[in-house]
Amino acid sequence: MYTLYRISTNSLDKHVTDEFLPLCRPATDENDINALIDVVRSGWITTGPKNAALEKEISQLTGAPHVVALSSATAGMHLVLKALNIGPGDEVITPSLTWVSTANMICLAGAKPVFVDVDPNTLMVSSEQIEPLINKNTKLIIPVHYAGAALELDAIYDLAKKYDIPVVEDAAHALGAEYKGKPIGARGTCLFSLHAIKNISAGEGGLLTTFDAKIADAVRRLKFHGLGVDAFDRKEQGRSPQAEVIEPGFKYNLPDICAVLALGQLNRIDAITEKRRVLVEHYSHLLSTVSGITPLSIPSYPHKHCHHLMIVKVDPTEFGVDRNDLIELLKQRNIGSGIHFRPIHQQKYYRENYVTLYGEPNTNLNHTELVGSQICSLPLFPDMSLGDVERVVEAIKDIASKNEK
Ligand SMILES: *Cc1c(COP(=O)(O)O)cnc(C)c1O
Repeated sequence: MYTLYRISTNSLDKHVTDEFLPLCRPATDENDINALIDVVRSGWITTGPKNAALEKEISQLTGAPHVVALSSATAGMHLVLKALNIGPGDEVITPSLTWVSTANMICLAGAKPVFVDVDPNTLMVSSEQIEPLINKNTKLIIPVHYAGAALELDAIYDLAKKYDIPVVEDAAHALGAEYKGKPIGARGTCLFSLHAIKNISAGEGGLLTTFDAKIADAVRRLKFHGLGVDAFDRKEQGRSPQAEVIEPGFKYNLPDICAVLALGQLNRIDAITEKRRVLVEHYSHLLSTVSGITPLSIPSYPHKHCHHLMIVKVDPTEFGVDRNDLIELLKQRNIGSGIHFRPIHQQKYYRENYVTLYGEPNTNLNHTELVGSQICSLPLFPDMSLGDVERVVEAIKDIASKNEK
């Protein structure tokens, strides 16, 4: 049976049971559910006033003047590549250790994804790793804010400026994070995700934030068939429903039944981030005595972490069990976990086709390959209790002590 007790209990010392503990649960509460019902009752369930409110809130939160709500961050990546005219002959630098959507969109645009290695302790790219990969065909850099930490943006934007190459920050993990006192989104063009696993979730959804009005206009147009305005604008502004196609576009708008869920959580974003921080602190403290299990490092430059994922690296020699077995053994103990991410260049399509399509890769990806086999994401969501964290750590210790294979 579906248990409602987890929703909005938000209590750090809730009673712990041995029921399945998932990797994540959305931070939706009863108010959000009621707001959703109101949207359904209103009769306007697709893109409408909740989208407009969401875009306004995100603009205020990030400081970005232009915000476009979308059906996913992947859709946003598709459209931003189009807006920047990325196509055949172009190269786009991005890590292999990220979600597959970025490389997929680059490939589908006809361009070449150039994979850059990551720091094995933070899983993020640096300007030093990017620079040697830049050549005359490089048209875009897509670095990833990883697990809720912020990238070293100053160095990356300095490099981009030096070579006059645009940057699109993959901020799917970073809503609510900050770099040097400024929110992620305050610097340039970003894509945030509202997918079910993300800190602020709409079920599915994405947000483009930018300072570039041309990018914003193109994305706004392309997300709805290439019409100058979307359905809501037409209704509100009384424009003709026969608005013309300016260029052939897609269908990537966000329904209001999704937008309203994100809006509700945004009201509590500081509390959501703080709750995650407390849980991660407890994990880190308890795991510090478990040999062979190492949480990611926290970058030393000033930033605010939004604790999207609790990632640990599993050293099979020291821990006695490898990452894949750990995932299986946790599952047997009714605990969910995940991998963020499997390196893209090692996945079937890229493994089999990269060299034929694009030639030899420009660099080695040693760190990516090593950490790609070791990273494991542990349960982390705001309705977890400290007891849930203890349960996970006890399970990990039990697995280590039994040295099961
Ligand atoms: C989730 C995620 C995406 C894609 O977001 P969607 O909204 O699911 O399309 C892109 N990059 C990273 C790093 C992600 O974690």
